[in-house]
Amino acid sequence: MPESHARRREAFRELLRDRQVDAALVTDLLNVRYLCGFTGSHAALLVHADDESRTVFATDGRYATQAGEQVPDLERLIERSASRALAERAAELARLGFESQHVTVDACDALDEAAGPAELVRTPGLVEQLRAVKDEDEIDALRRACDAADRALADLVEGGGLRPGRTEREIARELETRMLDHGAAGPSFETIVAAGANSAVPHHRPTGAVLAAGDLVKIDFGALVDGYHSDMTRTLVLGEPAPWQREIHDLVRRAQAAGSDAVRAGAEVREADAAARGVIEEAGYGENFVHGLGHGVGLEIHEAPALSQRGTGRMASGMAVTVEPGVYLPGRGGVRIEDTMVVRQSAAELLTLTTKELVAV
Ligand code: ZN
Ligand code: ZN
Repeated sequence: MPESHARRREAFRELLRDRQVDAALVTDLLNVRYLCGFTGSHAALLVHADDESRTVFATDGRYATQAGEQVPDLERLIERSASRALAERAAELARLGFESQHVTVDACDALDEAAGPAELVRTPGLVEQLRAVKDEDEIDALRRACDAADRALADLVEGGGLRPGRTEREIARELETRMLDHGAAGPSFETIVAAGANSAVPHHRPTGAVLAAGDLVKIDFGALVDGYHSDMTRTLVLGEPAPWQREIHDLVRRAQAAGSDAVRAGAEVREADAAARGVIEEAGYGENFVHGLGHGVGLEIHEAPALSQRGTGRMASGMAVTVEPGVYLPGRGGVRIEDTMVVRQSAAELLTLTTKELVAV
């Protein structure tokens, strides 16, 4: 892993040279983690545009041992305020970039004071830009996160855990426990289990609602592995599906396939949304698909790029994205089908492998 962190810092230095700053202060913890591997709750990183040997990591005394293990390859400062210590270190420079999208107004004043004569330059979003394209270490973590979720759902269904009489909350808890059994550190976000009419609410929170025969059950969940988030939705039915349930499931499945087919390097993010949305609109359910097609996943559950009608830019090989169209019929029920996949030159590489057929339990 230290090699991939060094490669990421090299790519970051290139962006700093483009922005014509001498160095940048990285204070967002996920960005610090991305660039050097540290997972504690207080840290900052000073990265020089030209010279890797001058990269300095800072944290406080609680993390001295952990920092020695996780960041063996960089100079380490142990100080009460990591960002202040590094800003003082940067006072000799002319232009110091900082993550202006993450720094509060008060923290900005403090940095300005600590940096003395150095000019603070806003450099928002640079690490996030790099993070959008995953390296193979990251894809491997995502693959393991998706695998834990696939196995947990299979266990739940095969174990008879999905049945009338249980509550949404019980099912969510069981799924989360089963993900832990398969190597997850935890769920990647609060598990959504939505039964019956609740399945028509896109981000329903599980309640004490009891599952009944004939319900659609929409399950949106993911696992967290090595800091990386998986994200998958499947909609199942309890007992024999009604014709309308079969119809919307089949429609969403076709839309999901069309969206997935449009995920490839070089394509505009909007095209993928349009490909899936077109299928749903043509069937007369356009009004019932009330959200974007998908989003990037990685160290955060929602990150760049946004695959939506208003999204801009193109997909690049190595981006990890979700494709998750849905059709929601208020008061009756809804279907969403979501996969996590990696953008490649030709067809996307699917990471969530659970069947997308309508499963009746
Ligand atoms: Zn999801
Ligand atoms: Zn999602």
